[in-house]
Amino acid sequence: MFSAREIADLSQEFETRTPQEIIAWAVASFWPDVALSSSFQTQSLPLLHMASRIRADLPILFLDTGYHFWETLMFREELAQKWNLNVVDLYRDSRWDVFVRQRVRSLPMEDPNLCCFIHKVMPMQKAMQGVKAWISGIRRDQTFERAGAQILELQKDGLVKINPLLNWSRQDVQTYMKEHDLPKHPLFEKGYRSVGCAPCTVAVGMDDDDRAGRWAGRGKTECGLHTKLFEKNLTEARPDFVLQSALNGETK
Ligand code: SF4
Repeated sequence: MFSAREIADLSQEFETRTPQEIIAWAVASFWPDVALSSSFQTQSLPLLHMASRIRADLPILFLDTGYHFWETLMFREELAQKWNLNVVDLYRDSRWDVFVRQRVRSLPMEDPNLCCFIHKVMPMQKAMQGVKAWISGIRRDQTFERAGAQILELQKDGLVKINPLLNWSRQDVQTYMKEHDLPKHPLFEKGYRSVGCAPCTVAVGMDDDDRAGRWAGRGKTECGLHTKLFEKNLTEARPDFVLQSALNGETK
């Protein structure tokens, strides 16, 4: 639909556009083949709020890893009802059930890259096969990898990734939340400024980076959804092949 050149030019043009303008463009250009992903943490609220007002039935993809805090699941339910969101839960492929059940407590600690690959990357890759555009809430100020992202990114399978909040700062998020009186994730006030799965998230201090509590002290900063790993499609691969790839370090 769009050439690589057009995507690059539009991405440059969008550097000075508001997130709402970018979301509206995404919906107008790709509907109904567009979806937004959200982890339903406090930082996710502005994007969810904007998108729900631009297109109320926009599919909101939520990765139900089975490792979430109860508070996250309750917050997701509460918001979905209050804002009438079209939330679509994504789960791991059932071919992994036996493997995961046998090591359900140890896997996140022993091999978080494989765990994220099974519970986040592969389900999202599968969901992306059904759309042409993916709206994500990443910001350049969050991680080293995200600092190099573009507002529009054409992936090698033709999927257009759209990052409307890329230029926003933590302060922009707080300002928007205050202006619109948005609720906070129940764990936010307890120091969980970025909330992922329970085994991989700890509370942080006021002076710490927002994401310092994610995989803290384990040398991991990304789950793989927003790195080059995402373009490595092993969705249909057999579990033993993925395991072998993991052993070879390919899920990092
Ligand atoms: S964040 Fe932790 S528990 Fe969640 S999928 Fe990744 S490794 Fe597994």
